[in-house]
Amino acid sequence: MTKRDYYEILGVGKNADAEEVKKAYRKMAIKYHPDKNPGDHSAEEKFKEAAEAYDVLSDPEKRRRYDQFGHKGVNGRDFEMNDIFSQFNDIFSGGGSPFESFFSGGFGGGFNSRRGSNLRIKLKLTLDEIAEGVEKKIKVKRHITCKACNGNGSKNGSSLRACPTCQGSGQVRKVMNTMLGQMVSTSTCPTCNGEGKIIQDKCEVCYGEGRILEEEVISINIPAGVGEGMELSMRGKGNVPPRGGMAGDLLIAVEEVPHEELQRDGKNLIYELHISFVDAALGTDVEIPTLGGKAKINIPAGTQSGEIKRLKGKGVKDLESYEKGDLLVHINIWTPQNLTKQERELLEKLRESTNFSPNPNKKGKSFFERFGEFFR
Ligand SMILES: [Zn+2]
Ligand SMILES: [Zn+2]
Repeated sequence: MTKRDYYEILGVGKNADAEEVKKAYRKMAIKYHPDKNPGDHSAEEKFKEAAEAYDVLSDPEKRRRYDQFGHKGVNGRDFEMNDIFSQFNDIFSGGGSPFESFFSGGFGGGFNSRRGSNLRIKLKLTLDEIAEGVEKKIKVKRHITCKACNGNGSKNGSSLRACPTCQGSGQVRKVMNTMLGQMVSTSTCPTCNGEGKIIQDKCEVCYGEGRILEEEVISINIPAGVGEGMELSMRGKGNVPPRGGMAGDLLIAVEEVPHEELQRDGKNLIYELHISFVDAALGTDVEIPTLGGKAKINIPAGTQSGEIKRLKGKGVKDLESYEKGDLLVHINIWTPQNLTKQERELLEKLRESTNFSPNPNKKGKSFFERFGEFFR
């Protein structure tokens, strides 16, 4: 599915500042809010789309990556309604705002807003691991549901009683006079957190919290071609909220460990090879580093500095196309320094040979001939 441009979604220009972006999003959020468009699927899609666009454009770092690399650069996540409502704390903040009561009512009562927090980790990956993709096992400390009480926090599960604040409904109603007229909003009962029940005897394992902190080994499949700063997410591998609910996500930020000899350029790799001008003139075989071992390449007689040798398929897999990039060997001719007397004499003799002056017509390829393919 191709995604629409985030600026287009919010209807702002590329140069819009943070305030404009926020304003535009606020407008969209009100227009497409599910409470105003009950059962309208396309409004819901637009609501989610706007939330995703705002998530990226309101974050300077994400926005910079998006401007540079497009959707690829930000690994845009799909938004769940609960993510969007949590975002509203920021967008509709400021006491007394009419939107606060408008949005605090949850989602038509049909959504379980009890979702745990996300966990964030950083994961270092080498180029070898990135090139083919890798399965990583990592230790994560996360809140999981207490097995003794099944997450409800009560001893033996029997000692729950109806909440006195909401009489068991889990919600309290408020009538507010707002800019948009009088509005009745229901919000989560603060006494029981919307559960409708409160605990009489707390579970002895989790002390009534319904969850415990546990270290877990999670295996993550890292797709080939990921890069520095990308974020992968594993749904449901974050924290479970207190007393039951959906677990948050585990967010994995990729850190690329630089390779000692190879540089990465997207799916291609670059190796700077230095050879003596004697080897360049006479030709030679050299060993170069590649991912997964050394490779021998031939430098033909008469090779010029700046020429590039392309080793097909020796690069990194592309994240989207799964195509393998190439290894580009940049050939640099090394000019000797600190010559001995004897070397000097030999070179002086060579200098007289006409063959040793650059021939402009045969000089190596021009910059554009060499790099043209990268600009196509
Ligand atoms: Zn209650
Ligand atoms: Zn428990």
